[in-house]
Amino acid sequence: MDFQLNEEQQMVRQMARDFAEKELKPRAAETDERGHLPMEAIKKMAPLGLLGLPVPEEYGGPGIDSVSAAIVIEEIGRACGSTGLSIAAHNGLGLWPIVAFGTEAQKRRWIPRLMSGETLGALALTEPGAGSDLAGGVRTTAVKEGDSWIIKGSKAWITNASHAEVIVTLCRTDPQAGHRGMSMILVETSREGLVVHPKETKMGVRGSPTHAITYDDVRVPLENLLGEEGRGFHQTMMTLDGGRIGIGALSVGLAQAALEEAVRYAKERVAFGKPIAEHQAIRWMIADMATEIEAARILVYRAAWLKDQGEPFTKEAAMAKLFASEAAERAAFKAIQIHGSYGYSTEYPVERIYRDQRLMTIGEGTSEVQRMVISRRVLQEY
Ligand SMILES: Cc1cc2nc3c(=O)[nH]c(=O)nc-3n(C[C@H](O)[C@H](O)[C@H](O)COP(=O)(O)OP(=O)(O)OC[C@H]3O[C@@H](n4cnc5c(N)ncnc54)[C@H](O)[C@@H]3O)c2cc1C
Repeated sequence: MDFQLNEEQQMVRQMARDFAEKELKPRAAETDERGHLPMEAIKKMAPLGLLGLPVPEEYGGPGIDSVSAAIVIEEIGRACGSTGLSIAAHNGLGLWPIVAFGTEAQKRRWIPRLMSGETLGALALTEPGAGSDLAGGVRTTAVKEGDSWIIKGSKAWITNASHAEVIVTLCRTDPQAGHRGMSMILVETSREGLVVHPKETKMGVRGSPTHAITYDDVRVPLENLLGEEGRGFHQTMMTLDGGRIGIGALSVGLAQAALEEAVRYAKERVAFGKPIAEHQAIRWMIADMATEIEAARILVYRAAWLKDQGEPFTKEAAMAKLFASEAAERAAFKAIQIHGSYGYSTEYPVERIYRDQRLMTIGEGTSEVQRMVISRRVLQEY
């Protein structure tokens, strides 16, 4: 869809690519091996506006559109999957709900801090017993006591928790009211009773920290409610609609990286007297990868564009995330196949890309959940 990108979107791509090539790609293997985010490089994103993608200019943000924001995540993911996931979660999950639902005081307090690179945004929805079924499964409660909320429960798989000063937490504020009894609450990680547990050991995106959290009667002021009481589930669904564009974009970036590595290798490696790129079986794999990546990219940009038009985009974001994440899986598989044994070695990036992309069909709603979202709307439409 490059032919339709406007000048600003093209400039954003160039800027993000230059940055990611210089600051992230050379460190991607080390980021994965050591299991640490490249925080020095991430701090350098602050002056470029990459840590404030959803923030309008009046709050000091870059004021870019959602297609540009998707392009940024795509380019970061092309260079480093771990950083891509943490920056997508920071912007789309941690920061966006504050921009969208925050009071003026909450925005003035948290947006500049989150854009500074000193702390990363985080959103805590998932629990040990609740992932796909948040409405039925969330057990974390927030009870009013005087001028405070008392929060009790536990969350699981929370990206960036160890780098966060504040965690947007989905709680049950009225246990009798089903999904209408849920609310988002801003919980500072410095509060007594909040414990961020050691990071999970993962298959991929190892540099992106993922943590369990326990809230043991954590007391926060009533004004830490984010958005409306009882609207937390609805606000979560809105957040995930946008977040899925981010994961779709990250999937496109990872798939693009896999394609580029595969093409480079196919031109160099010789078998049966010619570069393997001359063999039809290899060419077909490259053709399929390139075609699916292009289709995925267009779906992602279209969902982002609809969001900016103020049009419904729930179905389109789910389609983009579903198709892009599954296309990334196929592209990474083929990239390893094209590399033969070398693709199975940690010496070549395709091994890391394969592990990194595997998350994309799971996080922010599994492929099965995306199909539920899409089919519900399609069945209503026809
Ligand atoms: C690296 C990583 C980072 C993450 N970051 C965050 C984060 O920052 N914040 C956060 O809140 N969460 C985060 N998560 C959690 C993630 O969003 C959930 O793991 C995901 O939503 C799936 O939930 P679950 O693991 O509980 O699976 P489950 O809901 O238990 O699902 C298990 C399987 O059953 C299937 N299934 C469930 N219900 C149905 C159904 N009705 N029909 C058909 N199939 C069904 C699922 O598709 C899946 O295949 C992260 C997870 C990982 C691994």
